Amino acid sequence: MTTQTNPFIHLTAPGIPALTPYVPGKPVSELERDLGIRDAVKLASNENPLGPGPKARKAIAAVLGEIGRYPDGGGYELRRVLGEHHGIAQSAITIGNGSNDVLDLVARTFLCPGVESVFSEHAFAVYAISTRAVGATARVAKARDYGHDLDAMAGLVTDRTRVVWIANPNNPTGTWLAAEPLKSFVGSLPRTCMVVVDEAYTEYVGEPDFPDATRWLEGFPNLIVTRTFSKAHGLAALRVGYGLSDPRVGELLNRVRQPFNVNALAQAAAAAAIGDREHVRASVELNRSGMRQLTEAFQRMGLDSIPSVGNFVTVDVGRPAGPVHHDLLRRGVIVRPVANYGLPNHLRISIGLEEENARLIAALEDILAP
Ligand SMILES: *Cc1c(COP(=O)(O)O)cnc(C)c1O
Repeated sequence: MTTQTNPFIHLTAPGIPALTPYVPGKPVSELERDLGIRDAVKLASNENPLGPGPKARKAIAAVLGEIGRYPDGGGYELRRVLGEHHGIAQSAITIGNGSNDVLDLVARTFLCPGVESVFSEHAFAVYAISTRAVGATARVAKARDYGHDLDAMAGLVTDRTRVVWIANPNNPTGTWLAAEPLKSFVGSLPRTCMVVVDEAYTEYVGEPDFPDATRWLEGFPNLIVTRTFSKAHGLAALRVGYGLSDPRVGELLNRVRQPFNVNALAQAAAAAAIGDREHVRASVELNRSGMRQLTEAFQRMGLDSIPSVGNFVTVDVGRPAGPVHHDLLRRGVIVRPVANYGLPNHLRISIGLEEENARLIAALEDILAP
């Protein structure tokens, strides 16, 4: 149903009429149903193709018998383990039903009609959705070389700005910001403005001057860093992430947090996964070789891709990407079109297993053949 024909649209809170729903990658089961096939591959949602590691799997199995009870609303054990992992007080940690939930908590805590948030062109879609859902105004800075232009972003900050959103690295571009410029940007912001550094892909990044913004929390009480278990930890379906911040900011975020926002399986799996260095290492290694496999294929095919430090790569297919996306679906390969991110000729492709990447490459070669 379109906005125009929905008779309830006039009853909605400010901001809702202008919203369009987040478009997720198509589930494998749906495509297989549509096509009557059984071997579809999904390279569309930046999931870990290995799934969870053995420690998380074991923890989930161990807690299954307890799911008749509500989970621990405070997430005590998970926050204890995370506190230890980061060397940070538990009161600095806010748990979320995915890190998207934490982003939403930030919006609901600090944004409302009449105030603004700032983010970059091509930035993660949730910043716009969470901002507009609470009726605040989004100010979008032009990107530079597909990445965040910190000068352009600083130029949009006013006394009405309450939140600046930064994805490092960014999805869907895979671009990243080095420690020195990002830290000085954060330090230059007025303390009347929160700054979120979203580190959903941090485990994958090997660049020596890539920052860990959690190290800056003591110096910047207006900084919120978010992390997730959906990517390198392979727990996307369980929905668990967290924010790290000054405890006084955490106290505010927890005022609007639903008491049982993180389920028991997710809490147990996440607490086990954070200590499974071996699984993260194997996942990162697989990603590195898969990234090489895909980018070398793109080069062979004469396609430009945006250099990415994440577990996905966004490639310019040299023509409107919508029909190419469709042709890939018909061949059982699910990727993500990114026209809604202002990139109409690009497709974002998540790094999969070697054979999944090979399926994508073969299908793309076939579709783009002259
Ligand atoms: C995938 C992703 C997240 C994580 O979302 P979850 O809700 O934790 O699954 C957050 N930020 C960015 C930029 C992402 O791409």
